[in-house]
Amino acid sequence: MRKKIVAGNWKMNTLPAEGVELAKGVVAGRGEVCSCVNFIVCPPFTHLSQVAEALKGSDVALGAQNCAAEAKGAYTGEVAASMIAALGCKYVILGHSERRQYYGETSATLNKKMEQAYANHLTPIYCVGENLEEREAGKHFDVVKAQIEEVVYNLTEEQFKELVIAYEPVWAIGTGKTATADQAQEIHAYIRKVLAAKFGAAAAECPILYGGSCKPSNAAEIFAKEDVDGGLIGGAALKAEDFLAIGKGFQK
Ligand code: PEP
Repeated sequence: MRKKIVAGNWKMNTLPAEGVELAKGVVAGRGEVCSCVNFIVCPPFTHLSQVAEALKGSDVALGAQNCAAEAKGAYTGEVAASMIAALGCKYVILGHSERRQYYGETSATLNKKMEQAYANHLTPIYCVGENLEEREAGKHFDVVKAQIEEVVYNLTEEQFKELVIAYEPVWAIGTGKTATADQAQEIHAYIRKVLAAKFGAAAAECPILYGGSCKPSNAAEIFAKEDVDGGLIGGAALKAEDFLAIGKGFQK
């Protein structure tokens, strides 16, 4: 049985007090959703510690949106994996398309970040996905394959067992356009095949989340697909009610 996961990527939104309120709202309503759903919230670095406090005693996990590629030292403005782990994070989002696009993150950087994450017992939520041009040119399979081969294939079998993947078509992120459930299933199944080529049967256990304008109205249809194990949620994670309603989308 693969883990079912609904993870909220708050991006650069909320002030600390607002983040705490949001986290409290998720904790308060969590009981209305199947305990089989693993909720994760990923606030900005600045509120990790206060949100960790708000999540105490609940089963809602904490994640960060990024970590540094180096362990420590003279890297002004960076935040080390050890630091976020010390604040109570269990997860870290790596390779988000906004990081790849605006901050030039390459597979070489991401290999180092993955290494830091594992060295600090953080579970990476590794994002892959094509942009609109690549989708229209029919290159989406090749794009995600390369993103997996260049990074995930470098993991050990033990590390791979901890990994979570998020498929996020860039054209669907924050645009209101969602991949259809069939499009999501098609590429999730393909991703699993690419993972199986390297890791064999363990690929069947790897949670693959869908991300890109996922909301309460479309989550159930997408999550019903065989190879979709939950969602990485942006905009809709900023309202506890919507975030929880997405979790209710699990009917399998
Ligand atoms: C994201 O950026 O991870 C994301 C899925 O955003 P949204 O849900 O807003 O499209």
